[in-house]
Amino acid sequence: MNERFHVLKFGGSSLQDPERVSRVLGIVEAAPGPTAVVVSAAGPTTDLLIEAAARAGDGEDHLANGLVEQVQSLVVGNAEAVLGKGPALDDTTPQLEALYGNLRKLLYGVGLLREYTPQTLDLIQSFGERSSALLMAAFLKARGSLARFVDARDWLVTDARFGRALVDWPATAQNLAERADEWREALTVHTGYLGRSSDGRTTTLGRNGSDYTATLLARGLGAEDVTIWTDVSGVMTADPGIVPDAYPLARLSYMEALELATFGAKMFHPRTMIPLIEAGVPLRIRNTLTPDAEGTLVDETGHRDPGKPTSVTSLENVALIDIQVRRLDARPRMAERIQRSLEQKDISVWLSTQSAHGQALSVVVPVEHASRAQEAIELELRAELAAKEVRPLEVWMPTTLLTLVAEAMGRSVNVAGRMFAALGAVGVNVRTIGQSASSRSISCIVDADETSIAVQAVHDAFNFAHQTVSLLVLGKGTVGSELLEQVASQAETLRAAHDIDLRLIGLADQRRLTFEPEGVPPSDWEGRLAAAPEAELGDHGPVTPAVLDRLRRLPVPVLVDVTAADGLEGLYQEAFERGIHVVAANKKPLTIDVPARNALLESARSHYRFYAYETTVGASLPVIETLKDLVRTGDRVQLIEGSFSGTLGYLTWKLMQRKPLAEAVREAKALGYTEPQPQDDLSGLDAARKALILARELGLQIELSDVELEPLVPEKILAETDLEAFYAGLEAHQPELDAQLDAYEREGLVLRYLARVDPKAAANGGKVMKVGPMAVTADHPATRLRATESFVAFTTDRYAEYPLIVQGAGAGGAVTAAGVLADVLRIAQTLRGR
Ligand code: ADP
Ligand code: ASP
Ligand code: MG
Repeated sequence: MNERFHVLKFGGSSLQDPERVSRVLGIVEAAPGPTAVVVSAAGPTTDLLIEAAARAGDGEDHLANGLVEQVQSLVVGNAEAVLGKGPALDDTTPQLEALYGNLRKLLYGVGLLREYTPQTLDLIQSFGERSSALLMAAFLKARGSLARFVDARDWLVTDARFGRALVDWPATAQNLAERADEWREALTVHTGYLGRSSDGRTTTLGRNGSDYTATLLARGLGAEDVTIWTDVSGVMTADPGIVPDAYPLARLSYMEALELATFGAKMFHPRTMIPLIEAGVPLRIRNTLTPDAEGTLVDETGHRDPGKPTSVTSLENVALIDIQVRRLDARPRMAERIQRSLEQKDISVWLSTQSAHGQALSVVVPVEHASRAQEAIELELRAELAAKEVRPLEVWMPTTLLTLVAEAMGRSVNVAGRMFAALGAVGVNVRTIGQSASSRSISCIVDADETSIAVQAVHDAFNFAHQTVSLLVLGKGTVGSELLEQVASQAETLRAAHDIDLRLIGLADQRRLTFEPEGVPPSDWEGRLAAAPEAELGDHGPVTPAVLDRLRRLPVPVLVDVTAADGLEGLYQEAFERGIHVVAANKKPLTIDVPARNALLESARSHYRFYAYETTVGASLPVIETLKDLVRTGDRVQLIEGSFSGTLGYLTWKLMQRKPLAEAVREAKALGYTEPQPQDDLSGLDAARKALILARELGLQIELSDVELEPLVPEKILAETDLEAFYAGLEAHQPELDAQLDAYEREGLVLRYLARVDPKAAANGGKVMKVGPMAVTADHPATRLRATESFVAFTTDRYAEYPLIVQGAGAGGAVTAAGVLADVLRIAQTLRGR
């Protein structure tokens, strides 16, 4: 029995320079048994020739000639480099010259006529593949192989649809059967992409057609296998141009590959798989540059494991036409009629979907056919449109058809759920959804400018266990620098143990911004920020809406606010509107006036974004979540009492030890417990803000100005801005304080600085919120507090007798940063849904 053929196909990318051509020659020569080679035009030749035709058609001969020159010099450069001077080159050069001479004449004709038809264009393009195959044969011959150039127009018979010719398989098969034996004796090099109509005119098979040539050849020759050699190591989990960390798939079934090619994987011709399915010939896709890598094997079986990676592909420049039916009983078979009307106009429909009851139909067509498609549908439905049974059509474009392909899809659960959850997580709007009849793929339409974020999100959700989170951090003060340190030191553990890939992609202070989508190296954030140029400042500093637009395109974008700046609520809203989550330790946006604060929270809700602010009260102590849980589960809060200021806690603790206040403040400042101006702490305003945040969680519509706020010492002492003068004021106030403390001691009371939220107080004419120095009895939980410790006690219907108490270190950079990190991780975990 005869040994079976091996078919090898080399794409333009494998022939673009002499170095790659040499690799190709090595691969061909190493192939065992009878071999047939198919080649594309070298490098960008086809694009250049199409452009040359267009220029000639516009009468711009010199431009057309320049492009031909470019193509010719690429080819001649390959020839000279591979063959070197000598008889082989002397033989080949005149052949190439004759070929390009003919091409120039043809373009000259086009220039004269100022017109070129699809037929002429196909003939012009044929020069690319013809010179490429001619040369490859010459190279192999020069190195001692029995190589032979074959013009595939001699065997590949097509119809006369120029630019996308359909193959006449019986005629082609017959030609191949007649030639097989003769070719077995030589190493044949065939032109890819080209065919000939039955009346002898040159046709092309559509872009990437050489792949299809190779599989047709394999089928006709009964080949053992086909290998497509290209510049990537196989079919990847996504277009590597969109998803840089896409990786090659080991195996695919024919049907998966077919679906991928149909739905836009720009790596092979959509019909490539058809001859293979018919003949059961396996296909390998391998990399000319790394010939030892296995590449991808495409065959009948593919990968049976439903847990195996999945490919995502996108087809850009499509239009979505929506047809809304008002009356269900209106006319039957509307979908069929629409389909037929489009078929009649020869419009390719990429996807058509129909809601369960047929009220909503949509079709997806190439953008260039959108208006013809719309007209065809409107004509078909003119009666329904006139009777207002169908709403006026809506057309969305440009949009992108995004498709997830996996053979095992039908067998694994919740694929659609995961896909749309991933898109939702990055805030991508899905316009319509469709599943292929084979249930091997699921598609949806997204807006064109969301293509890459959408592909990336779906890709990651299915191919990586880990969830990438992109952080833009505002503020590099105490909390900020702690946070950055923790991100750096935790990253590895988070990735290894929790599958979370925390990426610091940007950092801003009041003036500068560094934004690096691949990640700012956490060890060098200071250097990067210092090296960043002064940014253009918007309403909220260097983080402008344009910066947010960049942030939103990254996986799970989170804006982290660890500043104490005023007015950032506007920035948060801009973030929510763009699908960005916010994690904030900044209290200000939650303590603005009630309607604005409510609008901010509503904005997060209506855009389905997270707004996490656990650290605004009690740093990383679980205060807000605890309160939310109580409220959510129907408990009624009777009283909230707490010591929210670490500084004031420390000072009252020291005062009870009878340390003079001025000394205690100096000490606290030295320990880093106070704001730069300790007056700010002593005013109690910060504690009031925290209590207000809690009160509002209860639904109380209270303003900061409604809070009865008493500073630790009289206002006039705090008004002193000079630090030394301020200390002097405290010293002068000491006798008064001492008298007070003596009195407390006699009565067995303890001084603490507390905040109290008493929802019933208003009914009795009192203040709902009081913040100030308070004397409590020895059994009060606040008496147990040491140093800067915080506590909050919730007295509720359920916790009536013994309040629910949260206590611990409630201030400081490290614990606050840890709390911020915990908020970020909660978001990541919730989004992942696993
Ligand atoms: P050739 O010149 O060998 O025919 P092509 O440029 O036609 O090569 O196809 C290979 C290219 O397809 C790759 O370089 C890659 O950029 C692109 N591509 C798009 N989607 C995928 C995918 N899912 N897997 C691999 N490559 C892809
Ligand atoms: N040269 C043609 C193209 O660029 C065919 C191919 O490369 O497969 O589309
Ligand atoms: Mg190709």
